[in-house]
Amino acid sequence: MALGLVGCASSSTSPAPTSHSERPTMQATLKPDPSLSRFEVEVCFPGGLPARIKAGVPEAARFLSRPAAHDDEGDVALTRNASGHLVFDRTGRPGCVRYDVDVHAVLVSHGGTHALRTAQALMISTDFWLWRPAETDASTTTELHIVAPSMTISTPWPASKTHPQRLALDATALHWRSHIALGAFETKVVDVLGARLEVALLDGKRAMTDDALLDWFQRAGGAVAAFFGEFPVRRLQVIAVPAGASQDPIVFGFVVRGGGPSVLFFLNSEATDADLTRDWVAVHEFFHLGMPPIYSRDAWLSEGVTMYYTEVLRARAGFISTDDAIERIHDGFGRGRASGTGATLAEESAKMQQTGAYFRVYWAGAAIALNADIAQRQATRDESLDTALQRLFRCCARDKEFWSAKDVVAKLDALATRPFFRTVAEQWVGSAAFPDVSPAYSALGLSELAGEPPTQSRGAAERSLRKALLGRRAR
Ligand SMILES: [Zn+2]
Repeated sequence: MALGLVGCASSSTSPAPTSHSERPTMQATLKPDPSLSRFEVEVCFPGGLPARIKAGVPEAARFLSRPAAHDDEGDVALTRNASGHLVFDRTGRPGCVRYDVDVHAVLVSHGGTHALRTAQALMISTDFWLWRPAETDASTTTELHIVAPSMTISTPWPASKTHPQRLALDATALHWRSHIALGAFETKVVDVLGARLEVALLDGKRAMTDDALLDWFQRAGGAVAAFFGEFPVRRLQVIAVPAGASQDPIVFGFVVRGGGPSVLFFLNSEATDADLTRDWVAVHEFFHLGMPPIYSRDAWLSEGVTMYYTEVLRARAGFISTDDAIERIHDGFGRGRASGTGATLAEESAKMQQTGAYFRVYWAGAAIALNADIAQRQATRDESLDTALQRLFRCCARDKEFWSAKDVVAKLDALATRPFFRTVAEQWVGSAAFPDVSPAYSALGLSELAGEPPTQSRGAAERSLRKALLGRRAR
């Protein structure tokens, strides 16, 4: 998944701050109460109160109470407009606003991926408590002080260079989703080839041990690092939350990128250490980090490519066999073919959150990735979707602007010696039919019988292509 890829700011031409000594646009202080049911927040604007402030999502207006503002001349009256924004009666002078946030009410109405309470800890989206100017741009920065001396704190944000006790949030922390965790929990650091995964292990019923889970993050991260040449980000916030029982050892995960990369994992409470080797979600989410941020309407590309490589990289790392990878990809195509609403892939992708046509979008995208990859492997000596994605990672994965699928596809072609992706994508993105994978199957020596895993031919060329794609890599 890649939830939270919405509400991205339009591109801005405003210059970024050039000096570390430049004061932040906002200086915020967050004080949670000991029961984690209420936040007291103060946000100061050293450069002057803006005209209006808003939360990250409109529904957050319901949870704000007792707002009060002042500037250097005295109290400033506040009113709410029809959009739920707070409007200052006087603007432009240095001043502050303070307010309370009813976290308990957020949990009651938006509990789940936005906010979550365990016995000892709270995870909550920044959208619900950090109010910000209604107009922000790429130069808007925030210095945040979380006053919770007896609590453990997990955030995706780096320490401020001028005030190491505080956190430095760039503009993406306001434009994109992010989460903090507060309370009593363990944090552990996992090192993946020099990258630092800061894992918050929230409390709850869980059969698997901390050690096994951390080891799994290390191995899954290693499989992704082997592909990109390094782990895709230097520092990653990871929040691991026990969830209910489910089939998969990690039930669900997603990436958010506000102010720094972060992955949330929801763990199957009954999965054991041994079950973790079956997990695909960790490789999947870590792989997402190697691609630039892509609009959620274009999930066919971000999820399709990621789904394809989820299985490919698991085989290359030896987590699953080549046969298993082929079977899982084949099975995914079958599920993708059998689901959907009959719309074109582009339309299906754009309305996936409403229709729930995830299998269709993910696996049709994966089929396009397979077709493009095989076509490029056959047409060139040493290029593939691998090499194009590795180049895309190096130029663009850490971009602070969202990409459209069209732009990513054009870039993948530009990064290859022979364009290969657009032709395949254009053929299927505008079509309601599931992509035809028979040419790729034939190149790989896979033949289908209805309801059976594909059989694999003994031909040398096909075997060699299967090995190039899925063979275990030396570590
Ligand atoms: Zn995903």
